Amino acid sequence: MKPVTSSLKIRRSVKAKRLRLAVKPGLIELVIPCETGEAQAMAFLDKHRAWAEGKLLELNDRASRIPSVRSFASSATLPWRGREIPLLIREEQGLKIRVSVGEAVHIALPQGLGDSRDEVALRAFYAWVRRWLRTHVALLAERYALRTSLRPREIRIKRMKTRWGSCGPSNDININWLLALAPESVLEYVVVHELCHIAERNHSPAFWSLLARHLPNYAEERRWLKTHGTELMARFHL
Ligand SMILES: [Zn+2]
Repeated sequence: MKPVTSSLKIRRSVKAKRLRLAVKPGLIELVIPCETGEAQAMAFLDKHRAWAEGKLLELNDRASRIPSVRSFASSATLPWRGREIPLLIREEQGLKIRVSVGEAVHIALPQGLGDSRDEVALRAFYAWVRRWLRTHVALLAERYALRTSLRPREIRIKRMKTRWGSCGPSNDININWLLALAPESVLEYVVVHELCHIAERNHSPAFWSLLARHLPNYAEERRWLKTHGTELMARFHL
């Protein structure tokens, strides 16, 4: 067991209304409102320290149980829109977590994350992809809505363990975030597939013929998911 005190950060806050301990991967943060005295803050820390340390170990333990998460930050490349591009991680003291994706995936991390480095990097990547994909899928759906008159009420990008997409009873469409890593045509297939569920709720012949009308070559994209989908889900399980 690592000494937890090394990952304690103390922060004075103008906004904080009360003393609080926040546990994040690799870090316990004690937030002290400006008007609270040192002695009171230390008493609070003593009282809740065991709880926070337990929580921190739990977070670290969770990260280490998932093999794919452990190896994320040490991958040389990542799939992005159907092709492998370099993953470049920069670690420096006090660096803010930051992600950008272009010809490579750049992730900036603060130094000293220890065992939680992989999970922090993967979560940061996930958050970035999710934002990007929300905009991207909205544009895609809008383009098809013009042709098909099928409009979702809302589009959500989610972590989904077994599915690529779903369409709820109120026409809310959920899209698996991992589709940003698949070829564009595969993402498009899933979006159109879910849009077609607005008109046809099940996988009846009427559904497939509607889909074929809007996306004649969908069988190819379906096959891609059958062949590569499991691997993608296993690699980025979080
Ligand atoms: Zn379906």
